[in-house]
Amino acid sequence: MKLFENHNLKSYNTFGMEVSARRFVQLDVAEETPAAVAEYLQQWPYYILGGGSNTLFTNDFNGTIVHPAFHGIERMEEGGENVLLRVAAGEPWENLIQYCIKNQYFGIENLTGIPGLVGSAPVQNIGAYGVEVKDTIYKVQGYILSTRNPFELNNSECQFGYRNSIFKQTLKNDCIITYVWFQLSKIKHFTLTYQGLAKALEERELPLTLHSVSDCVRKIRDTKLPDPKIVGNGGSFFKNPVVPTEQYRELQVQYPDLVAYDAPNGLKKLSAGQLIEKAGWKGRRVGNAGTWKNQALVLVNYGGATPQEVLNVANGIIHDVKTLFNIPLEMEINRI
Ligand SMILES: Cc1cc2nc3c(=O)[nH]c(=O)nc-3n(C[C@H](O)[C@H](O)[C@H](O)COP(=O)(O)OP(=O)(O)OC[C@H]3O[C@@H](n4cnc5c(N)ncnc54)[C@H](O)[C@@H]3O)c2cc1C
Repeated sequence: MKLFENHNLKSYNTFGMEVSARRFVQLDVAEETPAAVAEYLQQWPYYILGGGSNTLFTNDFNGTIVHPAFHGIERMEEGGENVLLRVAAGEPWENLIQYCIKNQYFGIENLTGIPGLVGSAPVQNIGAYGVEVKDTIYKVQGYILSTRNPFELNNSECQFGYRNSIFKQTLKNDCIITYVWFQLSKIKHFTLTYQGLAKALEERELPLTLHSVSDCVRKIRDTKLPDPKIVGNGGSFFKNPVVPTEQYRELQVQYPDLVAYDAPNGLKKLSAGQLIEKAGWKGRRVGNAGTWKNQALVLVNYGGATPQEVLNVANGIIHDVKTLFNIPLEMEINRI
């Protein structure tokens, strides 16, 4: 374990905010977690920080940041059809994608290119191109901060939902995830329900392989999303709003091209990006912050933006979307 005081967080958040943490604890091995919990996480404020790609620091952090930096992908069980992997929280998500492609394990290839660490993947149940990570998670292990006890939650106990889980609800700020177990398939199969992906694969006339699907996802993402190493951002800033079908139908009269997907309980999930675009925010810049030219859902730091500048853009969007559509947008990003 390493302890740093007044630690600069610029390289630990993809928005590139110039902020610092009073105390920064880096965990180099998972077994150090109980000691770190006992020593540093019994007193507010604290924050568990992975790769910082879903975190907007709104100020210097006057507390303790704990950063799991332990790595490892282990094959725990292998049968004819499935494989069980135990992956350390500090492993970059992209390493797991590459490991699965190399070993021909199917299930998460559509999640190629999502930044961040494996320990954060269950927190908001990361998803893209018709796949959510919940469909491959077998169990999650870690420690409860308030009791200092280890926990182990199976898939249903994680209470996964759309960009949601128990780790964002009852266990919010009360746990540190150390390992995520994945059950992946050894049988060749793909999820091509997202039309853009199916079409892109067809156009490229490539054989369907883990490599070609992953590569295609990456290329689609590159056309829509800015690379955080070049333009600071936190991916989708808002959740896609879910509304009653009746409200969607009423809006459709005025906006016939409104995109909607079926959601559970007879509701409709709208595209936050489209609503923001229709509210006139696509590619708009206010000071050093704004929205991305190819995807209005992504708020960006054009260089030297302060947290307040990003929040001003976010609040402007929330106000205008509410005024135009009577829909309250909810932030997906964690504001600290
Ligand atoms: C360019 C870009 C594209 C993106 N695309 C997608 C996408 O397609 N789909 C998608 O779902 N997301 C996407 N994201 C959002 C983000 O990458 C994911 O949510 C990712 O899982 C966050 O990982 P992280 O390690 O960076 O999380 P962080 O921002 O560090 O943390 C996120 C949350 O998880 C908690 N946390 C982190 N590690 C632990 C741990 N070990 N134990 C307990 N809690 C922990 C934090 O406290 C925080 O609440 C994108 C982001 C960017 C910048």
